[in-house]
Amino acid sequence: MLRELYTARLERKQCLSEAAQCFHLEFVVEGEEEFSFTPGQFISVVSNDARGKPDTRAYSIASAPRDNRFDLCLNRVESGYFSNLLCDLAAGAAIQIEGPLGFFTLREPLTDSILVATGTGVAPLRGFLQRLFPIGGPDRSGGKEIWLVYGTRNESEIYYREEFETIAAHYANFHYVTTLSRAPESWPGLRGYVQDHVAQIVGDRAARLGQPLPAPRPDPAIPPAQLRFDIYAYICGLSEMIGAVRERLAGFGWHRKQIVTERYD
Ligand SMILES: Cc1cc2nc3c(=O)[nH]c(=O)nc-3n(C[C@H](O)[C@H](O)[C@H](O)COP(=O)(O)OP(=O)(O)OC[C@H]3O[C@@H](n4cnc5c(N)ncnc54)[C@H](O)[C@@H]3O)c2cc1C
Repeated sequence: MLRELYTARLERKQCLSEAAQCFHLEFVVEGEEEFSFTPGQFISVVSNDARGKPDTRAYSIASAPRDNRFDLCLNRVESGYFSNLLCDLAAGAAIQIEGPLGFFTLREPLTDSILVATGTGVAPLRGFLQRLFPIGGPDRSGGKEIWLVYGTRNESEIYYREEFETIAAHYANFHYVTTLSRAPESWPGLRGYVQDHVAQIVGDRAARLGQPLPAPRPDPAIPPAQLRFDIYAYICGLSEMIGAVRERLAGFGWHRKQIVTERYD
């Protein structure tokens, strides 16, 4: 099926981490007043690869919809073609994109939610958070408890830290949990892997609400598509981390439909 191609021009570029070679890119879609999408979706960048053959790569949109603009957050991948092409793009340069695409979006009605990411996996979660908790805009979280559990090796790779700390300062129901796997002794925050902190959150919440853990299996008479839960997890990043978090949640009796994932590799 032929999809519509858009031209997106890079308006602003910011290095989020020199060490990790991670960049925040802001694009304007030319000839469109609006570029509509659901937070969490991705676009597909279309270009000729290093050998001149047409190819595409997916990139999560790292923002909520705002007129004809969207943001990306990506890091260089060693020997990769598209990631380096985008990281080297200069302001004013244009790329071809298709989209929006994908189903990594907040399930409705909104429930308590644990958002989990490592590295650039934070991109679509930033879109969720801009939508739910716009600074200076209407609170769309409906009072649900929302956790962002973000893991990385070093402090220099905590992307969008100020933005998320600002949200946490404004909204008592947003919990920003950052954990470092290679923290120096001076790091005052959490350590270790995201799955351990997700497990802690799930355990504490169940105890607070007086819910059994592991959770009882849903009624088998209800078709999976019709199942509704009071909490979901949204996990984005590389498959090893996603597998580790999924395994912990499955151990708590979570149903596969409660665990929404976006894999980058
Ligand atoms: C739905 C979807 C959304 C994505 N969104 C993003 C995004 O928002 N930001 C982003 O940086 N990447 C994202 N990716 C990954 C992206 O599509 C490319 O795979 C990545 O940029 C590498 O492309 P490349 O052409 O440079 O290298 P390739 O030659 O295609 O890949 C080289 C290797 O790097 C691995 N890889 C892919 N992504 C990463 C990564 N982030 N870090 C380390 N290794 C990786 C691949 O598995 C592959 O083995 C997404 C992938 C998918 C499927």
